[in-house]
Amino acid sequence: MQNLNKGVFSKDPNYNEPTMRKEFAQLMPLRTIVIYCYDPRATGIPSAVAQEFGDVYPGETVFDDEGNGIGTTCTMLNVIVAGGRAVDALRSITVGQHLLGVENIVVVHHTNCGATSYTADGIIDAFKHEHNADISNLYDQGSVCITDFESSLNHDVQLIRNSAGTPRHVNIYGYVYDIDTYELTKITEDLSSTSHQASAVQ
Ligand SMILES: [Zn+2]
Repeated sequence: MQNLNKGVFSKDPNYNEPTMRKEFAQLMPLRTIVIYCYDPRATGIPSAVAQEFGDVYPGETVFDDEGNGIGTTCTMLNVIVAGGRAVDALRSITVGQHLLGVENIVVVHHTNCGATSYTADGIIDAFKHEHNADISNLYDQGSVCITDFESSLNHDVQLIRNSAGTPRHVNIYGYVYDIDTYELTKITEDLSSTSHQASAVQ
């Protein structure tokens, strides 16, 4: 590769950050960010969320007159992390808002998830003995594993809401996805038009 910085927007001689940002906002009509587990069995989650929220996913590439792919009709971005825990998604939410604008953030935890198979103490202890590493203060304890879905989803919705990098206008939702029936069940939501407290959904 001749020029490693070819295609790095900020290295372009005509680069102008505000102009660039406006152009980026036109690439994709982003509405919803969905955060879910990297378990390969969880790949049905974005389609299920798109159906629930009326989003376009995966959408189609938009081409210019010269045949260059310059955008997409997709309205959803996926953040795929262990257990679908929000701690790993905070920076992606900030960047998504900055470049494209976000309306909804949907956290999805799933049944039979590996994150429910161990405890915070267990993983900390194992790392100490197997890798001689102290990870006890590396992550907030409430984000390390999943002990029950109501706790994990309420924790994650509040973690996102309380982050300075989350825009105030977004609606935040917590769902459980049944890996066997492909069903989504809403457990909690924190809507921007109400007070910023998570409310349980019956
Ligand atoms: Zn999982």
